[in-house]
Amino acid sequence: MRTRLHIFVNAADIDPDRLRELLDDAEVQPEKITRPGTLGVYAAIIADDLLGAERLRDLLRRNGVESFLRHSRSASNDEALSAPLSVLRVVTAERGEGGPRHGTTFTLEQACARCGTGARPLGDVLLKAGDVPKKGPVFQTLDHEYFVSDRVRDALGAAGITGAEFHAVRAAAGAEERLPWSQLVAPYALPPADPETSGGIRRQDPCPECERDGYFGTAQSPLELRYSVGREDLERVPDFAVTWEHFGRSNLVEPFEDSVFAQPLIVVKPRAVDALLKLKIRNVAFDPVAVSDS
Ligand SMILES: [Zn+2]
Repeated sequence: MRTRLHIFVNAADIDPDRLRELLDDAEVQPEKITRPGTLGVYAAIIADDLLGAERLRDLLRRNGVESFLRHSRSASNDEALSAPLSVLRVVTAERGEGGPRHGTTFTLEQACARCGTGARPLGDVLLKAGDVPKKGPVFQTLDHEYFVSDRVRDALGAAGITGAEFHAVRAAAGAEERLPWSQLVAPYALPPADPETSGGIRRQDPCPECERDGYFGTAQSPLELRYSVGREDLERVPDFAVTWEHFGRSNLVEPFEDSVFAQPLIVVKPRAVDALLKLKIRNVAFDPVAVSDS
């Protein structure tokens, strides 16, 4: 597992040449210095060297430059293939509204009556055609739902991958034309992750009834889920499953189209990792999950 440290600064406070000088002074060799984004924020990315990062941040502070530090982790393909479970992460930016916004029907059978967490689409999913990518294998809506192309759906089916349910996507307007995408829903929910040892999660204002929503990632550290699951229980988990925890905040309101449903993360087993790697999908990463025998 490779951990990288990203030290973010603003170009208004320090230009990249001066940052390079301070990196030299701190005796830190960056892997990369990113280009400033629209807000002027950019980062020096360094390999796992926390002391070096602290020396750099100290120098920045003494030069009146504010910075913030974020950790990121990337697993090799072999690490993802050997982990019992991995979180499937889509690395490209989320796009377009999902949920019931464009008229998708939902079942609330397994959902919290108060907040709607656990609501699942029933039948085809309606999205705005302009929000759907023209090509590519996988994307997520701004509501964190996962979508796969017809090619990926067919390949997963041909590989006999279990646990995934596919909902065909149709254009929300006009003749509701079929678009070459499906929402991937995984009905099997894992037990709650171990709150003591899991990392990179924060909790804010969960629904008092079900307490399943209100989970968020943190900017500082990567997601590290840990589970205590017996070997037999692990064998029962299909190739695609979801976390018990739902990320974001649910809001069940009238009119129903204005409701928002927090979403779980999709967790995959090595067989699904293998099938996705064989498709050479570039915009997904796998975050291995730690499982200890309970
Ligand atoms: Zn609830």
